[in-house]
Amino acid sequence: MTRPRTIVIVGGGISGLATAFSLQEKATQAGVPIRCTVLDSGPAWGGKIVTHRIGDLVTEAGPDSFLSQKQAGLDLCMKLGLAGQLINTNDTGKKACVLHRGRLHDLPEGLLSFVPKQLGPFLQSGLLSWPGLARMGFEFAVPPGSPRDDESLAEFLRRRFGVQAYERLLEPLMAGIYAGDAEQMSLRATFPRFFELEQEHGSIMRGMMAAKKSASPGQIGHSRRTMFVSLKNGLSDLVAALTSRLTQQGVELRVGARVEAVRVRSHELGRWMYDVILQDGSALSAESLVLATPAYVSADLLRPLTPIAGGILDMIPYASTATIAMAFPRTLTSAIEGFGFIVPRREQRHLIAATWTSLKWPNRAPADQLLARCYVGGVGREDVLQLDDDALTSTLREELALFCGIRADPTYTEVNRWWKAMPQYTVGHGARLAQLDAAVSRYPGLVLTGAAYRGVGIPDCIRDGALAAEQVIRDLQGKVHPDRAR
Ligand SMILES: Cc1cc2nc3c(=O)[nH]c(=O)nc-3n(C[C@H](O)[C@H](O)[C@H](O)COP(=O)(O)OP(=O)(O)OC[C@H]3O[C@@H](n4cnc5c(N)ncnc54)[C@H](O)[C@@H]3O)c2cc1C
Repeated sequence: MTRPRTIVIVGGGISGLATAFSLQEKATQAGVPIRCTVLDSGPAWGGKIVTHRIGDLVTEAGPDSFLSQKQAGLDLCMKLGLAGQLINTNDTGKKACVLHRGRLHDLPEGLLSFVPKQLGPFLQSGLLSWPGLARMGFEFAVPPGSPRDDESLAEFLRRRFGVQAYERLLEPLMAGIYAGDAEQMSLRATFPRFFELEQEHGSIMRGMMAAKKSASPGQIGHSRRTMFVSLKNGLSDLVAALTSRLTQQGVELRVGARVEAVRVRSHELGRWMYDVILQDGSALSAESLVLATPAYVSADLLRPLTPIAGGILDMIPYASTATIAMAFPRTLTSAIEGFGFIVPRREQRHLIAATWTSLKWPNRAPADQLLARCYVGGVGREDVLQLDDDALTSTLREELALFCGIRADPTYTEVNRWWKAMPQYTVGHGARLAQLDAAVSRYPGLVLTGAAYRGVGIPDCIRDGALAAEQVIRDLQGKVHPDRAR
């Protein structure tokens, strides 16, 4: 029998686990026997995915849902037998709000698709002045930018839609996802579709309308899934299903295993063996090594091996954030409706966004409770994270009272701090990734994956994990990656 090829994956967040899952599939297809070990320094699997179940409350400390349009998330759930657990957002009370001059306004319908169905909702929302609205509509006529240069998200949105639409609507909608500063974020790395639409159609709105027209009738309005989906008992069930499947498949899973260093040995010309040194001094050797750790951890591990890769990884900044769950008696918060609200940076508040979790999702709280999820921190707004839990909670309660009239005492509060949690794709990210790939490609079998590179969302991480698995198998078979041909 052929000797199994050894692979170590460092990092057991969704990226590392999805890589391990995909490796099993791809190794079987390629007829390559493998022995895979996943190591994580934390006490539990899943990294940022952490569901808490407290009595009848279900809270998510990290992500609370994922985009259904990016197929990789749904596909993985199907493969793991979780189809019956998938939940859509509630049908009723779908509206979301945005804070403007200290007051909440309904987000106009059609905004997310960038095809304002009619002017009415935009005018009624009171968010944009007539000139601001006219400038937004002028987007059709704005010439496309240079296809060569990367541009900041802020520059791009202001150039195409005008300052008002950018500051009041688009900045909180788009930069908020990354807890980022749109002035620094790379358009191409964060919203590549907008760059493509501008280049192909000369206008985002025109491009969106063309895409809608060319979509088959089956694709329009008949999707069984809402834009965001989650799992009935929380996203940790995805992690539990993954670890259980991997265990069945014979993958060795070790938590509490911090990797301190990586060394490389050449055991024959052009082939490498990686020694993975753990905190307890023990070592594991593998022919292939996948680092599914945050960029700053991968930087520390790789710097002695390739200072160039270490240097590039060090240039990926991270933002710290926190989620704060609060439950309130529904009788005292009965006026609250919709899914929640977002807060533009220019409002200079602590909240980035608040979600009415129990109104947005089924099964998150008993009917007599309103479960809220507050999101704070992010680039340039991290000071608030230094407050202790009580001070942080009362600061947010002041904002909830001011914007939404919630004055009730919470019956449950939970603060989850995430230090250096959200990688920031700043202008030039794509070019730096190309340099990183070139530096790493000198080491066959060494692969980087995770939220730091090609998308922070859960489906992006799963997709990138599958690409990493493909790369590992190719390297083990001695094939040269088309992008890595030297
Ligand atoms: C508050 C918050 C809300 C979010 N909301 C959403 C959302 O609603 N939808 C969505 O799609 N995405 C969301 N995201 C983004 C998404 O959750 C993350 O990008 C994704 O989970 C990252 O997965 P990962 O596996 O790449 O990294 P991580 O989850 O960070 O996993 C990395 C793992 O590496 C381990 N590790 C680190 N150092 C070592 C070491 N030296 N040795 C061994 N192991 C090590 C860590 O313990 C960790 O488990 C959110 C993120 C945050 C922080």
